[in-house]
Amino acid sequence: MFIKKKQEMIKEKLIYYFSQNKCEGNAKMKNLLGGKGANLAEMCNIGIPVPPGFTISTSAYKNYYQGNGLPANLCSTIKEYMTMLENDTGCKFGDLNNPLLISIRSGSVSSMPGMLDTILNVGLNDTTVIGLARRSGERFAYDSYCRFIMMYSNIVLQLDHHLFQSVIDKEQQKNGAKSLADLNVDVLKKIVLSFKNIVHKKAEKYFPQNVEEQLLSSVNAVFASWQNDRAVSYRKIHNIPEDLGTAVNVQAMVFGNLNNNSATGVIFTRNPSTGEKKCFGEFLVNAQGEDVVSGSYTPIPINGEQENTMEKLMSNVYQELCEICKKLETHHKDMQDIEFTVQNGKLWILQTRSGKRTAEATIHIIVDMVKEGTITKEEGILKIDPKIFDNLLHPVLEAKGDQKVIGKGLPASPGVASGYVAFSANDAEKTAEQGKKVILVRSETSPEDINGINAASGMITARGGMTSHAAVITRGMGKPCICSVSGLYIDKNGSFFSVGDTIVDKGDPITINGGTGEIMLGILPTILPELSQEFKTIINWIDETKTIKVRANADTPKDAKIAKEFGAEGIGLCRTEHMFFANDRIEFIRRLIIADDKAERASALSKLEEMQKSDFKEIFSIMLGMKVTIRLLDPPLHEFLPSNQSTIEKMAKSLNKSVESVKNKIAQLSEKNPMLGHRGCRLAISYPEIYSMQARAIFSGVDELKKEKKVEIKPEIMIPFIMNEKEFILICKLLKKEAENFDVNYSIGTMIELPRAAMIAGNLAKHAEFFSFGTNDLTQTTMGLSRDDSVNFLNSYKGNNIFENDPFEVLDIEGVGELIKIAIEKGKKTRKELKLGICGEHGADPESIEFFIKLGVDYISCSPYRIPIAKLVAAQRSKCAKQSRKQ
Ligand code: PEP
Ligand code: MG
Repeated sequence: MFIKKKQEMIKEKLIYYFSQNKCEGNAKMKNLLGGKGANLAEMCNIGIPVPPGFTISTSAYKNYYQGNGLPANLCSTIKEYMTMLENDTGCKFGDLNNPLLISIRSGSVSSMPGMLDTILNVGLNDTTVIGLARRSGERFAYDSYCRFIMMYSNIVLQLDHHLFQSVIDKEQQKNGAKSLADLNVDVLKKIVLSFKNIVHKKAEKYFPQNVEEQLLSSVNAVFASWQNDRAVSYRKIHNIPEDLGTAVNVQAMVFGNLNNNSATGVIFTRNPSTGEKKCFGEFLVNAQGEDVVSGSYTPIPINGEQENTMEKLMSNVYQELCEICKKLETHHKDMQDIEFTVQNGKLWILQTRSGKRTAEATIHIIVDMVKEGTITKEEGILKIDPKIFDNLLHPVLEAKGDQKVIGKGLPASPGVASGYVAFSANDAEKTAEQGKKVILVRSETSPEDINGINAASGMITARGGMTSHAAVITRGMGKPCICSVSGLYIDKNGSFFSVGDTIVDKGDPITINGGTGEIMLGILPTILPELSQEFKTIINWIDETKTIKVRANADTPKDAKIAKEFGAEGIGLCRTEHMFFANDRIEFIRRLIIADDKAERASALSKLEEMQKSDFKEIFSIMLGMKVTIRLLDPPLHEFLPSNQSTIEKMAKSLNKSVESVKNKIAQLSEKNPMLGHRGCRLAISYPEIYSMQARAIFSGVDELKKEKKVEIKPEIMIPFIMNEKEFILICKLLKKEAENFDVNYSIGTMIELPRAAMIAGNLAKHAEFFSFGTNDLTQTTMGLSRDDSVNFLNSYKGNNIFENDPFEVLDIEGVGELIKIAIEKGKKTRKELKLGICGEHGADPESIEFFIKLGVDYISCSPYRIPIAKLVAAQRSKCAKQSRKQ
């Protein structure tokens, strides 16, 4: 059995060729070829000019990972494919006269920009460089050799990049040059010598002259880069599975650094910041690809007003590039991020992928593409990552225009962020760990900074363009970023930065506006933005598509207004005890809780009744025409009782009691397990007047509003923490008695938040017209996990793979989900028309929503700000979206 498996493994095809003449892959093979490899093959299939090459598959990576280095069969197949590549290009690998040079690039299944390694110009040594010089010029040949030694030494030999960069910096300074392109061939030859000496000294070996060794070691290093720290961090941040591995693309080099008729650049088929339908990009003349993306140079825009744009300097190539952009975007039905090289006037495309974009751009592009007929509404909805809806609601500066701007750069990723200045990824992480917001300020970013960027709320770089690493990464994370701030100087010791006349120390607070590129001093106040028309259009399409309603958890008239603004289709949970959280109100609920007798309770209740009636009236008035579910009081006592001396003293004074007696009462009420204590309907079993008061407040408020507005309003009243049919019957009786005094229509339902309630759901449904699953408490009580305390050990559970997720965020479908299923089956058996809702925090979680849709739940309810996300996910996971996904 084992032997058979081993043979199969060896027979498996591990390498796939791509060129205009022969192409073994296509776009559907992403899992095997990685995103880059699959798209390179697809571009060959549709006639885009791509330099020929081959992709070593992710299966080969798996063989590599399980074994020890590159398997022998892989090495021999690589050699066979190199021969094919030599035939295709007419050049020979390692040949003195006509050397073939190759690039070796990673290509994972999910895009991980800049995290994995790439090596360019492989195949250069002391002899092939002479052949290359004869073919293409000496300066170019030595420029390429310098770049190759530097990259190879860093990635394969693991030598510090700065060892090499400092040699270049010194020579540039000495020769008054701005970049490598400005250095003459003699200086470049000198640099090559210095580089080789560094390798000899630091790696204790000569720089490898054997091109096959260069090739195989490079493939090995690119595979190994899957496990480097930054890639591991990036996968954690973006939830990319560890076991996917990367493919490796070996491709004939084309040279953007050949001469001044050569260039390299990145182009987006639409603007990735705004979504505007116009090609957007940057390029550098006489340079190689890494120069643009690394942020070490500030590239020039492709088009626009500026003098030296590609549109003006290389107009024919620019036109051809725009045509290719159109073709690729239509083919992939998505905005593309394309890397290209111009070699002596000939355009080559090196990569295409779906472009990372801001939340605003995502919405803009989808609305445009649906209107153009490129995609359907459902396809558009499926393209939206729910996380970007959070970003769309990111805050904007409250006061516009009147803050002092101390510096300005490129608006690389929009949004406003305030925080304390940190100059290193480490510092950023440490500051964030202290619970402080951070703005990370760097000369340029490198992929090593990924954890710091993740910890920061926003970032600034002194160098780099709109397509630099920092810009791409922050846009993907939805964080504000400003690049290339003119005149920004960062102190070498990382203790301050200066811009113009202003000096900002490490730890000083600043605010950045990534939409305008402006830096301001201090933490400036922000407000929520108005929702754009395009956002509203998308929400309308989502509403047409989804099959489940999305209501809000809203406790006050203010919440109700926000909920409506965000598209709530009713209120699924109004926690009435939260109406008293405000400073000027909490005293009254405390008075109720610590009342010594009926009279004191009655006095507190009458004040509460006034407040509740007016709040209910306002909430129903805001939500006119929509369902509103009012949950009767459920105050876990510990959340409401005062604990500090001064509040207790104040309370004693206002109640005309001694501090001692108030303290005694608090001690008497204190519970060891308040979450399982005297809360919910249990309070009303002890003190029925509490729920009677609430019922009167609801009914009288609704009765008055009905008459004023001349419309029908039918409140839904929900009883919390029910575990017993008799509890429910008793409270129903209480409510019905109060209703007799008013002209109101209403329904009464129960929360299901205890396992026993789920198990007796059939009996509860005899009296309850609706169920709303309180999945917070249901998770707490089913799993025996405290909602308040378990955070302390949940991480070890996740670390040991016992839990994949926090069960208070993502529903435990296997356990808690099963109880919900049982309760629904039992409840529906008794009452066919039983209405079902979810009001725990799981109402906004994508995986949980899909489960609730499958169970036939009528609505989910979540906090107002999460409504757009919940609606989007509901639409994506609803049947009709699923069908279109299958097509
Ligand atoms: C719940 O338990 O899920 C619920 C919504 O109620 P609360 O969070 O108020 O206990
Ligand atoms: Mg609850």
